[in-house]
Amino acid sequence: QAKVRGGGRHAFFDVELRERIQRHMVLEQDLRHAVRYDELWLAYQPIIELRTNHAVAVEGLLRWTHPVHGLLSPAEFIPLAEESDLINSVGAHMMRVATRQLAADRQLRNHALRLNVNLSPRQLEDPDLLPAVRDALATSGLPPRALCLEITENAIPQDPIAAAHVMQALRDLGVRLAIDDFGTGYSSLAQMRRLPMDVLKIDQSFISDLPDSAQLEVVISSIVTMAHAFGAEVVAEGVETERQLALVRRLGCDQAQGHHIGTPEPIDRLVIP
Ligand code: C2E
Ligand code: MG
Ligand code: MG
Ligand code: MG
Repeated sequence: QAKVRGGGRHAFFDVELRERIQRHMVLEQDLRHAVRYDELWLAYQPIIELRTNHAVAVEGLLRWTHPVHGLLSPAEFIPLAEESDLINSVGAHMMRVATRQLAADRQLRNHALRLNVNLSPRQLEDPDLLPAVRDALATSGLPPRALCLEITENAIPQDPIAAAHVMQALRDLGVRLAIDDFGTGYSSLAQMRRLPMDVLKIDQSFISDLPDSAQLEVVISSIVTMAHAFGAEVVAEGVETERQLALVRRLGCDQAQGHHIGTPEPIDRLVIP
């Protein structure tokens, strides 16, 4: 059949495409099961205040223990969830789990760490997002100020006015908002100024090139100055060495996160610096 339409190239393309779609569909089926059978879980990574070196928050990071493929990272399945609308139910589920786990751990270990949860761009368009957040807070008893929702910078330029609207509504609930992966997107300074945000997270690609770049140092301290002018705190992501830690401290970042400070762990194995 492919031959009729124009030769071997097409036949090859068709087979490859069909295989890809099939693999995709199987994994999507698996993901539906994963939610039901509790294969999804959260690893938590500490964020420290640079002034005190003590943890002030943890970020929940999604993990999937797949029955066949083993441990999968979000990069391997979040895009799939985003394409298939599953992201909204997965997101709402993880919001419930994270708030419940952190509220319990706060009581158990007597700490007041805040919880950061990542939102997918698609969730910003979901009318059920607000009720889901409200419900998770009410059920867990976690105070709204203890929840910080991370929105990747890339999500915003698609529809900055709609994004700002949803973000304001979330903020009216009392939760804090963070711009994640800052520096990788295309948001303009004008847009940044209009966005309701409490925290700005500098993407790890900036930090990984530190030190040895005088230009990068200038860029980072400019971002810090700008964020502070907008009333936001700055987190340096992906801090992997003592030198990077010292440098982001010197450049004026407020908080830091990275393997040098603590790796993402299940809640019961999380070490709180
Ligand atoms: P992110 O929100 O920017 O999270 C930080 C990522 O950097 C995490 O990758 C974390 O494990 C990794 N990381 C932390 N410290 C270091 C370090 O020192 N060096 C290096 N090289 N990496 C470090 P992870 O867990 O694979 O998550 C990747 C991305 O997937 C996240 O980036 C976030 O955008 C997304 N994601 C994770 N969990 C969720 C979730 O529950 N919902 C949604 N929508 N997205 C999520
Ligand atoms: Mg994040
Ligand atoms: Mg990030
Ligand atoms: Mg990232």
